[in-house]
Amino acid sequence: MNKKSKKSRSLVLYTLVVIVLFVALFAINQATNKKDNVNQTTAEAPSTASQPVMGKEDAKVSIVEFGDYKCPSCKAWGEQVWPLLKRDYIDSGKAKFSYTNVLFHGEESKLGALAGEAIFKSNPEDFWTFHKALFDEQPEVNHDGLWITEGKLLEVAKNSIPAMDLEQFQQSLKSNEIQGSVDLDQELVRQFNIKQTPTIMINNIVIANPFDYAAITAAIEQEMK
Ligand code: CA
Repeated sequence: MNKKSKKSRSLVLYTLVVIVLFVALFAINQATNKKDNVNQTTAEAPSTASQPVMGKEDAKVSIVEFGDYKCPSCKAWGEQVWPLLKRDYIDSGKAKFSYTNVLFHGEESKLGALAGEAIFKSNPEDFWTFHKALFDEQPEVNHDGLWITEGKLLEVAKNSIPAMDLEQFQQSLKSNEIQGSVDLDQELVRQFNIKQTPTIMINNIVIANPFDYAAITAAIEQEMK
């Protein structure tokens, strides 16, 4: 074999190796994507004890949102997906809906969670009004900037729940009891290994893409059988 053909042969070999590597990487990537789109299941559904629950208490299907008032996807989910769920399943008594706090954005997440828990304790029937009002206040741009402050929470509480005792509300933000409610939610976050918000669970099914309404309805219909 002459020097030239040896060289071209190693070039062919090199090209082949590169092609094989690319194909392998593509296959791995496809497999990973596929896995991301499959709903996972857990041993049991998250407990809704001591949580705000909307809808028929003994409904066969329990929908739990793990959310964070600082999270822009949670705001978007509440505006785009939640109204459909409410219309199709919660209002008709087929499913109940509950919200659990996740604190992925530090002190502001915690302050928002404390406020929700304080209202749930003092004015349980007004929880969902405050919950929506607080998400409405999340800025469309620069949601990472500071916006959940005690002043903002008082303002939202005052505007959304006129009968609210604001002094009591302010005190409960610092109370051990309300801190205990936030801690309980963190136990659930750990138990269910929540890594992203919003995470939507239909009984013990973790929805891979919370914005895929078809996947959510398929899981609900399956659990209603
Ligand atoms: Ca809670």
